[in-house]
Amino acid sequence: MAAPVVTPILPGGTLGILGGGQLGAMFAMAARRMGYRVEAISDVADCPAAIHCDRLHVGDYTDTALLARVAAGCDVVTFEFENIPAEAGRVLAAAVPVRPCPEVLFTTQDRAREKTFLTQHGFACAPYRIVNSPDELQRAAAELGLPAVLKTAAFGYDGKGQMRLVAPPDIERAWATLGAGPEGPRQLVLEGFIDFDCEISVVAARGTDGMVAVFPPTRNAHANHILDVSSVPAGLADSIIDEAVATTGRILDALGVIGVACVEFFVTKAGHVLVNEIAPRTHNSGHLTIEACETSQFEQQVRAVCGLPLGSTRLRSPAAMANLLGDCWAPCADGSYQDPDWAAALEVPGVWLHLYGKREARRGRKMGHLTALAATADEAVEKVTTARRRACRG
Ligand code: AMP
Repeated sequence: MAAPVVTPILPGGTLGILGGGQLGAMFAMAARRMGYRVEAISDVADCPAAIHCDRLHVGDYTDTALLARVAAGCDVVTFEFENIPAEAGRVLAAAVPVRPCPEVLFTTQDRAREKTFLTQHGFACAPYRIVNSPDELQRAAAELGLPAVLKTAAFGYDGKGQMRLVAPPDIERAWATLGAGPEGPRQLVLEGFIDFDCEISVVAARGTDGMVAVFPPTRNAHANHILDVSSVPAGLADSIIDEAVATTGRILDALGVIGVACVEFFVTKAGHVLVNEIAPRTHNSGHLTIEACETSQFEQQVRAVCGLPLGSTRLRSPAAMANLLGDCWAPCADGSYQDPDWAAALEVPGVWLHLYGKREARRGRKMGHLTALAATADEAVEKVTTARRRACRG
């Protein structure tokens, strides 16, 4: 059946975004460049999107009066992170188009629901068990074997709410840490440990007409469970890239995404891909599209949620992105932070600096990133990590 024709929201319209972090800030920059107004909702006033949007609504995502005000002022609403009550999306969707729809948020914000969706639709992922009690965890560990990775079903990101179980005594300890919440037991997901070859991710967009545009897969290196460096091209066999791209397109279709989503994959030693997780929004690994692709992931999000034709995702140049975490800022005795040496970083040719305007440089907090373009992905990684070393004084 052909997709229904949807009237596009043209420049001059107002776009709402749930969340005020860096992904919201970069979305707002892209949207305003294209002539849109942007209204963001955040639970904190001093958020990265604050200076980039036309109006910031500060409040709780469960405040229905606030949601009604946003709905009244916007032509469409999207989101920039998934730890938002899906109910907020449902309340908004009664009054204004929400893209992707709240059910996509509902499925992907919870690992147990996401894994169930993947399995029901035949998408390969790590073997897993959903566990609700210490006994279920013991049984799951016996069935899957150790090592295994235990994750909270809800509210996990950047390795938070996650533990690796190596030996039997870890099982009880892990339940005590992750499962036994103060308000009662938390649902967990135990995953078999994947001895992967590498990790990649694929950002893609799906328009109101059902057309899908996929960005080139990036190869991702993590440090302490947080994305450290992404590079493109991923340097893998065409068969692996094709499988990842095709799987991503099928996932967006199956979920019915209108907007941008990112699928993270483990690449197995046998040369296949297993879905790790789905983010129903732009992604840290897609930041390099700003400089490296004909359309950035943020402009693509604007186009997709507005019902405009999707832009070309063609790679203009091999590229790499390195995250700048709070660890790069040296804390001073008076509670302030010493900025990294940006001039030293920018002496490296072909490097771009993005800072998110966060004041407090906590360890592990994403404060900004650097992107480098070069003749090959390896050279781009070398450049961007050299620039970061120079900025962060080693
Ligand atoms: P996640 O929050 O699920 O993306 O996990 C963060 C990181 O932990 C991943 O990018 C992997 O490096 C690692 N990891 C997570 N799950 C597994 C698994 N089942 N097997 C091996 N490594 C994993």
